[in-house]
This record gives sequence, structure tokens and C-alpha cells, in this order.
Amino acid sequence: MLEEGGYYRAEQFDGTEQTAYQNLYQRRGGQATDDLGVTVLQGRCVGGSSTVNWTTTLRTPEFVLETWRREFRVFGMSPEDLDPVFGRIEGYLNVHEEPEENHSPNNLIIRDGARALGWHARPNARNTVDCVRAGACGLGCPYDAKRSVDRSYIPDAVKAGAVVYADCRALTIEAVGRTKRVHAAILDRERRTPRLDAAFDAPVVVVSGSAIQSPALLLRSGLANSSGQVGRNLSLHLTTAVVGTFERVIYAAGGIPQSYYCDEFLNRHGDGGGFWIEAVPVYPVLAALALPGFGLRHKKSMASFPHLGSSIALIKEIDSAGEVSINNFGRPVISYSMGQRDLRYLKQATAALVHLHFAAGARRVETLHASPLEFSGPEGVDRALDRASWGFNELSLYSAHPLGTCRMGANPRRSVVDSHCQTHDVPGLFVIDGSVTPTSLGVNPQLTILAIAERSAAWLAENFGAVTRAVRQI
Ligand SMILES: Cc1cc2nc3c(=O)[nH]c(=O)nc-3n(C[C@H](O)[C@H](O)[C@H](O)COP(=O)(O)OP(=O)(O)OC[C@H]3O[C@@H](n4cnc5c(N)ncnc54)[C@H](O)[C@@H]3O)c2cc1C
Ligand code: SF4
Repeated sequence: MLEEGGYYRAEQFDGTEQTAYQNLYQRRGGQATDDLGVTVLQGRCVGGSSTVNWTTTLRTPEFVLETWRREFRVFGMSPEDLDPVFGRIEGYLNVHEEPEENHSPNNLIIRDGARALGWHARPNARNTVDCVRAGACGLGCPYDAKRSVDRSYIPDAVKAGAVVYADCRALTIEAVGRTKRVHAAILDRERRTPRLDAAFDAPVVVVSGSAIQSPALLLRSGLANSSGQVGRNLSLHLTTAVVGTFERVIYAAGGIPQSYYCDEFLNRHGDGGGFWIEAVPVYPVLAALALPGFGLRHKKSMASFPHLGSSIALIKEIDSAGEVSINNFGRPVISYSMGQRDLRYLKQATAALVHLHFAAGARRVETLHASPLEFSGPEGVDRALDRASWGFNELSLYSAHPLGTCRMGANPRRSVVDSHCQTHDVPGLFVIDGSVTPTSLGVNPQLTILAIAERSAAWLAENFGAVTRAVRQI
């Protein structure tokens, strides 16, 4: 296994944003779309984004799996097929819901606000063991409580004979007869510059670099793109937030980051779109970047930090268009333009967040517009938001769930990989990560990605096991 980022143990996670963004995040947390309109957060370390994610572990919505079957002829992934796969993973990762007393004040905004408004909300499941509710999930868990991939699948793979090369960037893949040669660079840990060249030959190569990096690797290699679909169909699960000021202390940097969600508005109209509401951990540096305003105004907002609560709405895209291409240096370029129906949902989502915060007792709520909209009560919210400007760079937008850039399907002209994640074009070349989802999901993706990976790994072992064992003996 080649991993561009470093390998870190729990004692190296010091719970500060400075260390975490530097060591654990793609582009130190500054990765964004080409117009800088959307910040795209991803992990870059052994364990990938699972090392820095917020532990929400949810099954794929059934209506999404049905779309994959109907429109992309994906097989073996109906809710009935996946039920035992999800069950196995949930057992392995100790996926469970938290008891009522464990929800942080920031998560209770969702529970209490939704209850007051009559919206459906419930606790989400999490993949942790003996979590002490430190709130540092996004900075690497210092207590080894998170069952992220670096603390579960990877150590087990190593026990079974896998070898992990950290600080090793795959540059290109070359298909030489039935063998694939991966050209790579061993990096200097601190400077991230190449130190040594390396090459690895294998009959089977699995690309798992995420929905941003996997298409970039394939495009650099000129492989698996007879469909022209590599890099296309990017969905971001576009995310915005509001910030509420409360009399009580919320301290949104502490406690479990995400343990409650509101799904009242996902696929409400049966069009496959809509939005989902969750809590968001607000660390001080992140808050300073995200809170609108400058000078005194910004200082005042930061001074009330312990009283700030924040919730996010994540849009399940239906008509936005995103793409990953590569620049002259072979690095990924992310472009994204929002569709009109998704924009409508974004407006409704922002209004819903504002109402939720007032229903939970906020005395002031503001949006993340460049010229923020500030409300001191729920009156007039919908009208004011309707009149607000919604162009890119006028509202802070984020993504932590890029998906779909090497999508799965039966038709080699419309998709990059088949239902086992093998590329249509190159036998023995697989893509297994978030890039293979045929559409956006509408929920946090880690369990879907793990389920796809389990299915594909089982098929791969059955069909290529003999070849790879023979090579290992040589
Ligand atoms: C801050 C944050 C919070 C999140 N919270 C949640 C959550 O609570 N629940 C949830 O379900 N999802 C969450 N997610 C999303 C989830 O973690 C990701 O969707 C998932 O981990 C993606 O898996 P992946 O295999 O596609 O890519 P990744 O997990 O991103 O792994 C890709 C890995 O490949 C490496 N790589 C890339 N290119 C190369 C190369 N050329 N050579 C070598 N290595 C390379 C990268 O460094 C990275 O480590 C969150 C994500 C973030 C960033
Ligand atoms: S809340 Fe704290 S202890 Fe629990 S998984 Fe996250 S970082 Fe680890």
C-alpha cells in the first residue's frame, strides 16, 4: 500500500489545528475549487480522510441504491444485498448510537430545535470504542477511540502480510502486458518534496486515492478513460453553515462532534435532492476563518466563541456539475458549478438552519455570506434570504464528501468501473474509493465506501487471489 501522507500514532495527535492541518490534511486544509468558491477538505495520511473524519457512520439511503440499479445497472448492491455487508462492518467498527447524556450542547441544538419545529431528527451512529468525548476527531483522535481505517483495516491487512509505504506518492501507472508498473516518489516527510524514485510491479493494482486524486492519477497515466468519464460527475455534498449566539455556553469545539442529524428535507419531494442537517465541530482557527467580518466586528464574534453554536446543511446535488481535471504539473484542478435546483435547495437549507437555531433558543443567528445576514428572530428570515446574493464566493461553502469521478456502471461508455470496481478498460486495474459512486449520496459516505470496498475485495480475492499468491512466491 502506497500512501502519500505520513503515518502517525495517537500520541502524535496533539489536538491542535496547526499540527493537524499541516500533517493530516490535503494541501494543509486549503484545497479548494478553481474559483476558490468551495473549500474541499480531505485527509492526507495513513487512514486517509477516516483519520480526520467526525465518525458519523450511516448506511446508504435505499432510494439512492435504487437509482444506481435502475439508471446505471449496478448489480449486487440492493439494500438486501448490502444489509449483511453493512452489518459486518458495523460489528467490526463497533458502530453504535450514543446514549442521550452524551450529546454535546451543539448537537442538542438539532435535537431541541427539530423537536420544537416538528421535524424528524435522531441520533446518528458512530464508529468508536471507549470515546471520551474529547471533540478532537477532526484533528486525529489522541485517545485511539476512533475506529478509523488506520486503526482497523490497515493493521489487520499488515497482520495478513500487507506492507505499507507511507510518504510515498504514486505518480503514474503503466500497463506493461498483464503487469502494471506503478511509478512513485518517496517524499521528505517535512518538506513533502521527492527524495527517491521507486517503482512497483503487480498484476493487480487498486487505486484508492479519493474522488479528487484517483481521477488525477488515471488522467496522468492515460489509463481507463475510453469513456471520457474519468474526472467527470464530481459531487461535493455542498455544505454551508449558520452560527447562532446563545445565552448558555455551547463550546462547539468540545464533546462529540456529530451525534444528531435531521433528515426531514432529504428527498422530501421524491426528486432525489434536498438537504440533510448535522452539527459541526467549531475549532478556533476554523471559526476565525469561517466567521464573516473584519476588525472589531470579527473580534467581537470571536470573543463570544464559547456561546456560539453551529449547524451545517449538506445539499444532495441533482443538477450541479463538477469535474476533476489536471494542470500542466499533473495536479488535480477541481471545477464546480451549481445547478438552479440545487441552488434553490441551498436557499431553503440556509433558512431551515436559521429557524432551527431560533427554535433551540439562539438570540442571534448569522449566515456565512461575505456580507453576513444577521437575524435577531425568525421573522422575515425567508424573505431576507430570498433576496440575498447567492453567487460563488458570496457565501462560504465547504465539502468533506467529494464523490463520483470514476463512476460505476454496466455501460463502458457511461462509466469507468464495473460493479466489482474493476476498470472497464484495463483488467486487473481497480478503483475502490469514493470516486466510484454513480451519484451523490445525500448522507456521510464512509460506510458506503467501506461496503463497496468489502464487496470488491471479496470478489478480487476470489478472482485474482491465485495470480497474486503466485507472484508473491516469486
Ligand atoms: C473533516 C472531515 C470530516 C468527515 N466526517 C465524516 C463523517 O463523520 N462520516 C463519514 O461518513 N464521512 C466523513 N467524511 C468523509 C469520509 O471520511 C470520506 O468520504 C472517506 O474517507 C473517503 O474515502 P476515500 O477512500 O475515497 O478517500 P480518502 O479517505 O481521502 O483516502 C485517500 C488517501 O489516498 C492518499 N493518496 C491520494 N493520492 C495519492 C497518491 N497519488 N499516492 C499515494 N497516496 C495517495 C491520500 O493521501 C489519502 O490518504 C469526512 C471527511 C473529512 C475530510
Ligand atoms: S470525540 Fe474525542 S475521544 Fe471520541 S473519537 Fe473523537 S477525538 Fe476520539
